[in-house]
Amino acid sequence: MTLFIRALAACLAVAGLGSAVARTAPATASADTYSMGDFAQVRKYDAHVHANSQDAAFLEQARADGFELMSINVDYPDFPTLALQHEAALKLAKSDPARFHWATTFSMKDFGTPGWAEQVNAGLARDAAQGARAVKIWKNVGMVEKDADGKLIMLDTPALSPVAEQVRALGMALIGHQGEPHNCWLPLEQMTTDNDREYFRNHPKYHMYLHPDQPGYEDQIAARDRFVAAHPQLRFVGAHLGSLEYDVDRIGAFLDRFPNANVDMAARMSQVQYQSVRDREKVRDFFIRYQDRLLYGTDLTFGPDADPAEFRREAHTVWTADWRYLATDESQRVDMINADVKGLALPRVVIDKIYYANAVRVFAPAKAPE
Ligand SMILES: [Zn+2]
Repeated sequence: MTLFIRALAACLAVAGLGSAVARTAPATASADTYSMGDFAQVRKYDAHVHANSQDAAFLEQARADGFELMSINVDYPDFPTLALQHEAALKLAKSDPARFHWATTFSMKDFGTPGWAEQVNAGLARDAAQGARAVKIWKNVGMVEKDADGKLIMLDTPALSPVAEQVRALGMALIGHQGEPHNCWLPLEQMTTDNDREYFRNHPKYHMYLHPDQPGYEDQIAARDRFVAAHPQLRFVGAHLGSLEYDVDRIGAFLDRFPNANVDMAARMSQVQYQSVRDREKVRDFFIRYQDRLLYGTDLTFGPDADPAEFRREAHTVWTADWRYLATDESQRVDMINADVKGLALPRVVIDKIYYANAVRVFAPAKAPE
């Protein structure tokens, strides 16, 4: 558990894992909805994981629970090197190409020097030829990387445009994680989830409320939106509910504005549950209205030091807790928001899309360069 949670900190603020400790008795599922008994049989796709080890345990659990995986490589200092992540992805994809899919990424090293974009683009073409289906841009763009003048590089910098165009030309999706949960810009006592509170208490460096000199929440979101607007043909996936996790209305407005954008739910389920405890119908309506644009994802991270058996148990626990919430009307205790949360009992047709069909469409195989 410790290793697992630590690994999840890659996305700063671990906001999503349903932690069920108590349940009510199962309600009888209607013909329109799935039950817990359907969990293993229904085709599912976790659109946001990090398989950072060549060990087969993650794939084995995915097989047992009926999941395909999109494993996302990230230029994150606490992860294995990009070369090792790439190696793990190739090996796992080779062992089960129908179930294991991967997203590549690129380093911001030497950004701003002549030939940088050409070099990155050549690498992306190689990765696409090797089977990568998407490209990740992490929050280091916007929050860490600086230009020669010492200014933070924001996602909408024109120098990243050729890379975005290459991702589009290769027929891949671009997964963007920009900014942080809204809680990151609030004082600890105003945060909505315990996991955010704990994370930012322990990592004041990343707690933006303490750094008013840095770009604000709206600055990050606006830069991301300008980027998406500038590349309307690009299939864009806003990781972590597009960092708009605190308000389903805002996620909806983002999806309305950008028809080629989608969002994944990775590590933000408790933020959604926080809202559904207050207005279940509103959140349920959101899922139904945007059923073609939402990708189920967890941020499960399997590092090289993790115990395979322990990780498999954790993955199964997370996946079943989320299924209970999204697919059934059963209640479960969610410690992170200190509340009993009743499931949304989304219609089967909606579950089939957010758990599978949307990811298959968004992460279609890459094509040969134009
Ligand atoms: Zn992640």
